[in-house]
Amino acid sequence: MQAVSTSRPLLVLDLDETLWHGIDDPTQPTGVRFLLRPHLRTFLETVGQHYDLAVWTAATEDWMHAGLTAIREAAEFDLAERAFFLWHRERCTWKRTEDGAYAFRKPARKFNAGWIRSKYPRHRVLVVDDVASNYACGYGHLVKVSPWTGDEMDTELEALTYYLTSIARHEDVRSLEKRGWRTRAATFS
Ligand SMILES: [Mg+2]
Repeated sequence: MQAVSTSRPLLVLDLDETLWHGIDDPTQPTGVRFLLRPHLRTFLETVGQHYDLAVWTAATEDWMHAGLTAIREAAEFDLAERAFFLWHRERCTWKRTEDGAYAFRKPARKFNAGWIRSKYPRHRVLVVDDVASNYACGYGHLVKVSPWTGDEMDTELEALTYYLTSIARHEDVRSLEKRGWRTRAATFS
């Protein structure tokens, strides 16, 4: 019989190409418009019943807040208000890649901070991201989603809602095998 946890796990969400896609739009006062991924509202409301939520994006702080405002207005979900933390580019580190460029990383060791760990030990922390290499040092936390750039028929967040809900009470979500999660999510729907 599998161990069951009664505490709420923490779900750390990426934003760009995971929850939304930002595009240039000169007609907007901000010069940018955020397309929201299909099923976002249901995803946040449903998953938010089972998880505490946080944000970790490699985008700038301004970009992050602009998109979170778009979510609040369109999906009536105040992720900025709900989030346990809102981490943006300044919380990321740089890593030099093989071709000499630099890429952001989200070092999962930052979840060891006492103020996080005391409430959410590492085995109760999941992350959702469309770029696996962001969590090169924390794959165990990762539920990798496909990057989204505007396909209105996309069902990734719908499947993810089923999957995350199904594992929320698992005592050790970090050690669960999460590759191939879509196949398992399909059996729930
Ligand atoms: Mg992303």
